[in-house]
Amino acid sequence: MARSYNFSAGPAMLPTAVIERAQQEMLEWGDSGMSVMEMSHRGKDYMSIAQSAEANLREVMGIPDNYKVLFLQGGASSQFAMVPMNLLQGKSGADYLNTGMWSKKAVAEAKRYCDVNVAADTSEGGFCSVPTQESLKLNADAAYVHYTPNETIGGVEFDYVPETGDVPLVADMSSTILSRPMDVSKYGVIYAGAQKNIGPAGLTIAIVREDLIGNAMENTPVMFNYETHAKSDSMYNTPPTYSWYMAGLVFEWIKEQGGLAAMGEINQRKANKIYELIDSSDFYGNPVDKNGRSWMNVPFTLADAELDGAFLAGAAERGLVTLKGHRSVGGMRASIYNAMPESGVDTLVEFMKEFEQQNG
Ligand SMILES: *Cc1c(COP(=O)(O)O)cnc(C)c1O
Repeated sequence: MARSYNFSAGPAMLPTAVIERAQQEMLEWGDSGMSVMEMSHRGKDYMSIAQSAEANLREVMGIPDNYKVLFLQGGASSQFAMVPMNLLQGKSGADYLNTGMWSKKAVAEAKRYCDVNVAADTSEGGFCSVPTQESLKLNADAAYVHYTPNETIGGVEFDYVPETGDVPLVADMSSTILSRPMDVSKYGVIYAGAQKNIGPAGLTIAIVREDLIGNAMENTPVMFNYETHAKSDSMYNTPPTYSWYMAGLVFEWIKEQGGLAAMGEINQRKANKIYELIDSSDFYGNPVDKNGRSWMNVPFTLADAELDGAFLAGAAERGLVTLKGHRSVGGMRASIYNAMPESGVDTLVEFMKEFEQQNG
């Protein structure tokens, strides 16, 4: 058996220890006589799995008591609609910061429900920067401000949390949640698809401040109403039970690593190793402003795109896989979420140096 260093942007690597634990528990969880996959979501065994996952997430992220944690389906993409449906609360518009492909999709979906004020837009520079706080054209009457702290495709990450006064801040944290410590109380809603830094695909987590629940638009589908899930502890219908269980194992693993402070240190070190090499070389390039560079997704180009195929083939020989960049950006992208071991980054950096020596 050989596990590759998988640089996929999502679904992404999971910690080997987590998969091994799941393997041990695959046929029978505890002395339940069955696999987690076969359990009723309303039975006592599954309830304990679900509750301890939530408790561990609350502990790891320091989620205050006045926030609900919802375990949903539909991906972050469904949140693009759920956010306006639940948060407009009679207002006509919301502010959106447009900093990349994912913000753009959130904007397009929100336009179906409200007036979107694009309060910042970095598309002209090719989505390679983070707008400054001073440049945000926020509307004091907006229902909320939506932004994407980490743009997974462009590899652009905010180095600050936007200040929005009394207007709730909503963050699509799909590719940066759990990557470092953060202050949940600064946000109205945080949401994330699980498949990048939480667990397997199929689960979407929304962390919602309680006062924002209970005033959804009239025609909101029951399943798109935060209140439905908040009232039923995310058990209104059958939740993605196995993904929820796996996420719980990942939260325990993060605790064992020393929590988000430890994760943050490792993640910053991992990212710096790649950016340092890129900056010290004329062969590799990254177009993102230095203050906006992502710790989680590092896109880079080779001096000659004709060499991309050879680079990918050479990398694969060393077990470094899924490095091909997003089709809209080209080049390479190394996604280095929590589960990517530092040894994977070291192996990548070593290979990049060698490849440059041979082809630069
Ligand atoms: C992956 C991703 C999405 C889409 O997530 P789905 O769960 O596939 O809907 C949205 N936003 C960001 C920032 C992402 O990285």
